[in-house]
Amino acid sequence: MSVFGEKIEDYEILEHLGKGGFAHVYRARCRRTGLFVAIKMIDKALMASAGMIGRVRQEVTIHSRLKHPAILELYTFFEDAHYVYLVLELAHNGELAKHFKLGTRGLSEKAAADIFRQVVSGVLYLHTHNIIHRDLSLNNLLLTKDLNVKIADFGLATQLNGPDEKHVTMCGTPNYISPEVASRELHGLPADVWGLGCMLYTLLVGSPPFHTQHVKTTLNKVINADYKIPSELSIQAQDLLQKLLCKDPTKRITLKGIMEHPFLYNICTPSITKQDLSRDSGFLTTMHSTHTMHSNKTRNDRTGSDYVGVYRDQNMKKMDLKTHKPEGSIASGIDENKETSSKSCKINSNTLGVPPLCADRLPNISHRTRNAILKIEPSGVIVEFLKKKGKDREEKVVEICKITKDGMKIVIYSVDVSKDKTNLGQEHDPKPDEVFTYHNLPSKHWKKYLYAARFVDLVKAKTPKITLYSALAKCQLMENGTDIDMFFYSGEKVTYSPTEGLKVIDKTLKTRHNPAAVAELKYLNDHFEECYNRMKRIQGALSCIPDECFPLIIGKRPVQAAAIVASPLQGSVNVNFNTPLLNIGSFHRTASSSQAPSEYLS
Ligand code: AMP
Repeated sequence: MSVFGEKIEDYEILEHLGKGGFAHVYRARCRRTGLFVAIKMIDKALMASAGMIGRVRQEVTIHSRLKHPAILELYTFFEDAHYVYLVLELAHNGELAKHFKLGTRGLSEKAAADIFRQVVSGVLYLHTHNIIHRDLSLNNLLLTKDLNVKIADFGLATQLNGPDEKHVTMCGTPNYISPEVASRELHGLPADVWGLGCMLYTLLVGSPPFHTQHVKTTLNKVINADYKIPSELSIQAQDLLQKLLCKDPTKRITLKGIMEHPFLYNICTPSITKQDLSRDSGFLTTMHSTHTMHSNKTRNDRTGSDYVGVYRDQNMKKMDLKTHKPEGSIASGIDENKETSSKSCKINSNTLGVPPLCADRLPNISHRTRNAILKIEPSGVIVEFLKKKGKDREEKVVEICKITKDGMKIVIYSVDVSKDKTNLGQEHDPKPDEVFTYHNLPSKHWKKYLYAARFVDLVKAKTPKITLYSALAKCQLMENGTDIDMFFYSGEKVTYSPTEGLKVIDKTLKTRHNPAAVAELKYLNDHFEECYNRMKRIQGALSCIPDECFPLIIGKRPVQAAAIVASPLQGSVNVNFNTPLLNIGSFHRTASSSQAPSEYLS
């Protein structure tokens, strides 16, 4: 049961916060928990007369399953005869856009990048789950008490069946609509990247790139990608805007490309100039002063829902989609707050661009790349950076980064190679040079964190979370919630990952793509889809229960199937039968130095 009230009488309704199409939003206090929330009351009669019941249902279904630091959390929802009530995380600082005046100058590049990075990380999370937002605009960004940016409003969001699915419905804010949507062509995930481009442009310039007095003229400008980037912007900002506002969706920059772009990457380094700050139309100053105003309260007021919400998010154990209602443990992570020292109270408290890594349930593993040894151990994730030293060019550990399994605490040890005998395979003297939390990690260490997080992602992609024995195959949904391996008892192997899509390795070990289009492979494709959906449903149904139910094994291999020993892959199936070792083996194969970011120390 949710800790939040499930009827409107459970809440004390406070002041009016705003109004949407057929809804009013109020600040409210939950009588059961004392937590402050925002309640959106949707008028059922207005909704029905506008023919929007299905849309609201879709909005709630999608929104209630999302959990990410950059996405406004929908705690719970219920209805009575007149209203549908959405109980939302409270964003104390309201709409982001109201903090600076449109039509005037934009923000400093640093402030814009701080906001943008958070939004991109939220959109990355949505796209990983094949959700397209379709209405990314400044109006849909809210600001919390801790000045974190939250994507709100999933009224136009839609769930795709796969990353390549396309839609044709024209929707979105005219100023931010993409050329392919405006010209009613098929569109998919890249349409959100265009929206991000319009958003970044507006943040930097102060007005949207295609704004005119008339919707039709705006749409024409959009279709022709007719916009001008002011030359006063830095080269990096100009370059990123061009890549985001690329007319051809297939050539548009990817979300990963955005995260790695120097505009976001170099931010928070001393490259920020006074000129940048002077361009800030008061937003940065407002953010700082607002935050100072709230900061004491943040630390003391344990009833503030935002406070709890933020840390609950940051402690979150999963990137997976939630099912219906949020889980109960509101108190979790409170102790963690003590660690957020004043150092963390910067405007960009969540600027790493990735959510806290989570190595729970991952096996102990060690992996060597050209420049580092990466390990997952019971104590956490450890990255030992290597350099060739001395006359003999002997490889030495020069720096160690240890991150707790929940990704929240980071300890950096630098090793003085001349004094210290630290060498490969040795235990390191645990005298930390610096201890940080996820929130106050200085930008000079971000690359190390991202490196560790990438490693964790790779291991997750090869560690089974749910194993399901179907009539035809052993199916494994991995810890990252997306990758799938299926070992057919008849000898074929089917794999799916968002980057490589669906692949069949047939009995002769030949790899075949697009099995849906090949008649003799179609049954593999169909069975894959059936099992994929079953495992997703199981994962969804269990995600509101504490994580102990994973890894989960369902069913057992049919007796007849066990007798079949015919194909080259069959051996692997048998070896892998009761142990996840094969997956670790395949991890070793795939996480070669070419996949892991190996340029780190070069
Ligand atoms: P909406 O109907 O979602 O567009 O919300 C209407 C207005 O209510 C927004 O523009 C915000 O000013 C305000 N609002 C909505 N949700 C929240 C929230 N969770 N916290 C604070 N203000 C909100």
